[in-house]
Amino acid sequence: MPNTLFVSDLHLDHTRPHIADAFCRFLRDITDTDALYILGDLFEYWIGDDDPATGLQPVIDSIRELSLGGVPVFFVHGNRDFLVGKAFEDFTRCKILQDETVVDLYGTPTLVMHGDTLCTDDVAYQKYRAKVRNRWVQQAVLMLSARQRLKMAQRLRDKSISATRDKPPEIMDVSEETVRQTMLRHGVQHLIHGHTHRPGIHDFTIDGNACRRIVLGDWYEQGSVLRCAPGTMDLETLQA
Ligand code: MN
Repeated sequence: MPNTLFVSDLHLDHTRPHIADAFCRFLRDITDTDALYILGDLFEYWIGDDDPATGLQPVIDSIRELSLGGVPVFFVHGNRDFLVGKAFEDFTRCKILQDETVVDLYGTPTLVMHGDTLCTDDVAYQKYRAKVRNRWVQQAVLMLSARQRLKMAQRLRDKSISATRDKPPEIMDVSEETVRQTMLRHGVQHLIHGHTHRPGIHDFTIDGNACRRIVLGDWYEQGSVLRCAPGTMDLETLQA
């Protein structure tokens, strides 16, 4: 049966090998799928394509095997792994999509994105994002040694964890107004994203049109997968 799968926010690193194993098993089991979309934060951090990827080579190899087996794999950058680049793309044979890409999902134009740009109430984060996603800043960062970048990634993660702890939960969710504007800008009634770790399917209207926003869950304690087939979508939880 035709089906397309979406995941995000696996936040893989060497400290949670059971999640990396669960994802490898998942990848091995989905050889009859039409496409897999990984909507960002596959990795807890990524310092560039020379990342040592400690403990994660089996995941990278499994993505490659899935692509080589004929399943198209698409990747959207998250706020943790935005330095995933061309060497990763070439090795895994995945295709990196721009954040905010409209895909045809069995006849329904569907906007896919990581989701961090929807959280516009978090002004401090959006300022930080504008800096680190700047092309020139990224080029300068990539000129540092791998050791320096690892240190930097560690520092940014610690900062992000403490900032997240101190922020009220509502500012870390999406802004409904930004969702509305983004969907209108792309002329879509369906949106799929991750990032907030608040899995759910939200039905609402924009200017009288029925709209749907699907939020993927993270892979901290279990797996979360959106399975779409013509006319149906299921947000599934996988036991790790
Ligand atoms: Mn994220």
